[in-house]
Amino acid sequence: MSDFFQEQLQALRAQSLHRKLREVGTAQGPEIEIVGQQLVNFSSNDYLGLANDPLLREAAIAGVAEFGVGAGASRLISGTQSPHLRLEAALAKWKGTQAALCFGSGYAAAVGTLPALVGKQDVVVLDKLCHASLIDGARLSGATIRVFPHNHLGKLESHLDWARRERPEARVLVVTEAVFSMNGDRAPLRALIGLKKRFGAMLLLDEAHSIGVIGANGRGLAAEENLTREIDVQMGTLSKALGVSGGYICGSRTLIEWLVNRARSFIFSTAPPPALAVAAHAAVEFLASEAGEQRRQKLWARVAVLRQCMAEHCAACLSTREKGSAIHPLVIGDEQAALNLSRMLQHEGFLVPAIRYPTVPRDEARLRITVTAAHDEKQIRRLAEAISRHRAELTPIAA
Ligand SMILES: *Cc1c(COP(=O)(O)O)cnc(C)c1O
Repeated sequence: MSDFFQEQLQALRAQSLHRKLREVGTAQGPEIEIVGQQLVNFSSNDYLGLANDPLLREAAIAGVAEFGVGAGASRLISGTQSPHLRLEAALAKWKGTQAALCFGSGYAAAVGTLPALVGKQDVVVLDKLCHASLIDGARLSGATIRVFPHNHLGKLESHLDWARRERPEARVLVVTEAVFSMNGDRAPLRALIGLKKRFGAMLLLDEAHSIGVIGANGRGLAAEENLTREIDVQMGTLSKALGVSGGYICGSRTLIEWLVNRARSFIFSTAPPPALAVAAHAAVEFLASEAGEQRRQKLWARVAVLRQCMAEHCAACLSTREKGSAIHPLVIGDEQAALNLSRMLQHEGFLVPAIRYPTVPRDEARLRITVTAAHDEKQIRRLAEAISRHRAELTPIAA
């Protein structure tokens, strides 16, 4: 057995697709230490710098002092402690939905929710660039899966048309992301809603990279476009801009009651530590506050600095698509070339990970730069300069 896996690992190395873990000896932040080297961190989804913020640290500590560490059982057995319910009430209020339900992670939210909504007789239609958790949830549901090219409304329409003709009885679920994790661009939400309504489908919107970052009070893309009421299932994570850990679903009271009864990753997993719910609740309150608004403005100012520096140093490197997010891909193509560039940047003191297959399609390897509110302008300028010195490695991409 071990021979087989060793051969496969060797094959991964030969294709520059092998991955390994790197130890970080510090808290998350704009600078971290990896195996003895201090690096400016452009790899994190901690967009607002909350992961190590005193406000959240103190909330978590107070949570531990009152509720201890473990939750002891699943939510339905005896693990529903007051912090979970308070967090869910706060999430629902903030997102403007009737109810909310938290999961151990965003991944668990996806693989629990999709199979609760659709089954073997049904149809799931996904954007090609949907996150692995959504794909896995769709597969686990046993529903027929149709995939449309990224943000391609015409192909989505023809899938919906097919579903309605061939499966008139089926429930049809459209699944997409508000801001795409590896591209940084946004979904055409209003048009998607028009289509899902026309064909009587449900819509699940994953706001993992928009929540906390976009919209009034950081409530996400649906809120920014005033479309909250039109979305059946709003998914997101507490692990990125909110700086903590866990996933959530927001929606109607009926939806949440159904998930409590049917989402297996909720039912058959121990409740998240109550102290994390206390910390996530503090994060939600922060996002809705004046201080939260200022932090978001700081993030957008940093994003503008990166875009401006890249325009000065390497105009062809960044596409213009992703200017509405904190995620900036530098598409390289070749896996080894992306790794080489990432290594050169690390040598100069920057952590910018090379993202490769299967996270992105083959031969679309890229560096993924994420800017956070915690970076200072100088760090961003130095990164842009370093990238421009290695620009020969970069393939210009179409805007
Ligand atoms: C990170 C991510 C998830 C999973 O969330 P976790 O809390 O990290 O498990 C789901 N969807 C998208 C689009 C993501 O980027």
